[in-house]
Amino acid sequence: MKLYCIGIGPGGEEQMTLRAVRALEKCDCVAGYGLYLDLIENLIEGKERVQTGMTKEVDRCTAARDLAKQGKTVAVVSSGDAGVYGMAGLLLEVCENDPEIEVEVIPGITAACSGGAVLGSPMTCDFACVSLSDLLTPWEVIEQRLRGAAQGDFCIALYNPASKKRTDHLRRACDILLETQPPETVCGLVRNIGREGEEYTLTTLGALRDTTVDMLTTVFVGNSRTRVVNGRMVTPRGYRGV
Ligand code: SAH
Repeated sequence: MKLYCIGIGPGGEEQMTLRAVRALEKCDCVAGYGLYLDLIENLIEGKERVQTGMTKEVDRCTAARDLAKQGKTVAVVSSGDAGVYGMAGLLLEVCENDPEIEVEVIPGITAACSGGAVLGSPMTCDFACVSLSDLLTPWEVIEQRLRGAAQGDFCIALYNPASKKRTDHLRRACDILLETQPPETVCGLVRNIGREGEEYTLTTLGALRDTTVDMLTTVFVGNSRTRVVNGRMVTPRGYRGV
């Protein structure tokens, strides 16, 4: 019995790995959030869709597990990488007591990498990812991680910077980073990476504080060496002679 957990990358087919495409071809059923299934529509034509809402992750994984137990080849798809704020961990937990199911996790390009490429090369050196969603992580823990990342002078990719209900998380996160980082720290925003309407903006930490973003955006905060090179966000690796 086979259950794939597939990271489909940021957008459509073009940014998926060949391994992901081949695994999808083998599947009878595909489970995922509706938007993601729409993005890979061409690849899943004729396959059974298990479509659940955004907050129904546990239902989606149990439905996928039960279909696999019936002998079907099933894929659970996540955007980006399935192991980065995705479904891979949950799926492995849901299948903990079903050793007959072989779960194969297939990696995908996470937003820190795909968005980084849009901006230039902000994540050249050590970086951290922090999700600003406090649905599953208490806000105090998020604050602690932000302070740790700032103290270590990491470049930071902020995932889930806002949602319909939470509009002030980015401002609160910036205020924490501004406790130690200068307001002129180079930052970037990328929206709809790899999808229709892809757009990016370069800004500073001071201005980011007052910027409105949505959940389709990934925010990049540079480290103390990050600079703008011909309109792109670059964290130099440190090579001499340039
Ligand atoms: N598993 C995904 C992350 C899911 S969390 C990954 O590895 O990329 C959801 C957050 O990811 C969004 O709020 C946003 O911050 C970021 N994200 C995912 N896909 C994106 C895209 N195509 N464009 C911009 N941000 C994206």
